[in-house]
Amino acid sequence: MSKSFFIDTTRCTACRGCQLACKEWFELPANKTKQLGTHQNPPDLNAYNYKLVRFSEHMIGDRVEWYFFPDQCRHCVYPPCQGAADTVLEGVVIQDEATGAVIFTEKSTQISKDDFEYIRESCPYDIPRRDEKTGRMAKCVMCIDRVQAGMLPACVKVCPTGTMNFGDREDMLALAQKRLEKVQKTHPNAMLANPDDVNVIYLLADAPERYHTHSVAQASPRSRKQLFASVRNRLA
Ligand code: SF4
Ligand code: SF4
Ligand code: SF4
Repeated sequence: MSKSFFIDTTRCTACRGCQLACKEWFELPANKTKQLGTHQNPPDLNAYNYKLVRFSEHMIGDRVEWYFFPDQCRHCVYPPCQGAADTVLEGVVIQDEATGAVIFTEKSTQISKDDFEYIRESCPYDIPRRDEKTGRMAKCVMCIDRVQAGMLPACVKVCPTGTMNFGDREDMLALAQKRLEKVQKTHPNAMLANPDDVNVIYLLADAPERYHTHSVAQASPRSRKQLFASVRNRLA
């Protein structure tokens, strides 16, 4: 049975413990960054930040509301990035059968920047990033080394609020549904983000665009490419 995350954004305090735990576990170097007037730092995902706690604020009536979104690869059930990558060079993106983890391999250093951009555009959540020095494609790998050793992903292990959850897909779907029903009593717009398509299931208490442009799969000009990649993967 594949594994899934359930990320309950209604519990997130934006402490960024998950973001730092990810960097620490993978010994990812620091990024040069600067304060841009927001709690979100660095400004975007990059080759050395597989996880980013996104922050936005909106005026709702006469109140300022904060929205926190711990962004990472969704480990799609049928990953469009793999479908796209297979047309470039097989083995650049693989999916672990036991867990469902989608992994970018060292083979990614063999493809061109244009081919990387093609793969990036196939992702409905704008996740893939590239190390410009080495050409290595980078993103969350579901802490596959920890999970295979029976441990929790680092970001789940450190989360102090219960936002980050991880386990068998069926259990996570059941937990997500239970929390959704509870949250909907006070937040009627609450929703789960594409739960049938992904192994990283977010609970949002409000309209998805208030959290992040790519909090749910984008219906954009990218869609046709995503659809072809997804269909190709299903038929493989
Ligand atoms: Fe949110 Fe948990 Fe990450 Fe803190 S560690 S930012 S509470 S998801
Ligand atoms: Fe990083 Fe592991 Fe969490 Fe993915 S699962 S965001 S690789 S700590
Ligand atoms: Fe691939 Fe994007 Fe899905 Fe992650 S979220 S598995 S990078 S298509």
